[in-house]
Amino acid sequence: MSETYEVLAVRYATRSTDAASVYLNFHTYAGAENEPLDMDYFFWVVRNNKRTIIVDTGFTPEVGEPRGRIMTTSVIDGLARGGVDPARVDTVIITHGHYDHTGNVSLFPNAKFVISSREFDFWAGPISRRSQFAHSVERPDIEALLRYEADHRVQRMAGVLDVAPGVTAIEVGGHTPGQLIVLVDGEGGEVLLASDAVHYYDEVLLDRPFLMVHDLERMYQAFDVISGLAKRKNIAYVAGHDPLVFDRFTALSDEDPGFGVRVR
Ligand SMILES: [Zn+2]
Repeated sequence: MSETYEVLAVRYATRSTDAASVYLNFHTYAGAENEPLDMDYFFWVVRNNKRTIIVDTGFTPEVGEPRGRIMTTSVIDGLARGGVDPARVDTVIITHGHYDHTGNVSLFPNAKFVISSREFDFWAGPISRRSQFAHSVERPDIEALLRYEADHRVQRMAGVLDVAPGVTAIEVGGHTPGQLIVLVDGEGGEVLLASDAVHYYDEVLLDRPFLMVHDLERMYQAFDVISGLAKRKNIAYVAGHDPLVFDRFTALSDEDPGFGVRVR
């Protein structure tokens, strides 16, 4: 039986930056002027009356604040305000191993964790300890996931995985070795959660790769996959860190419009 889901994007942190600091080799774009940008940090809730799936788990204040990130809510409070009981979360999809997507995993005692095998092996392996990779990972988060794997709570994947009826994870790589995007049969239409395959919509619109890249060829290929999916009729396409998400979708709270949005 097919199922459909309510999909939320909940913002838990933000920071101010600029275009030259987020796009790879920004100086190479003739005529492009540097401009201030905000980077928002989200996790995503996918749920119906049968199951709750969380896509990525943010970071804790202890991890984010030393990096200069401003918490707008804690993930635990964000879950509560979104009506999510973490103990009742069935599945957590970890779209990639960066610190802003892997924190708080201990909040979900009954969940199975889905991650790309290639991604998991990379962050558990030696090259991830070299400086240009190491600053993007929070080692205790990876160690927690390794413990969960020993407890048979990690489902590794490669390529495409049907996580649940109507929820499909697709490995695109590029940003990281096994970056995932997630396609959901949402209430009233499809949803594409691009996570960090697309931080900002302009990455795909202007064909401008993000600064942090594992494999540039695969990042461009991921842009092609995503722009193809984004052309589907009535699909709701959600970039991973873009404040424009608040313009495209409906605020969850009138009193606190920056809290998050209902995508479907
Ligand atoms: Zn991210």
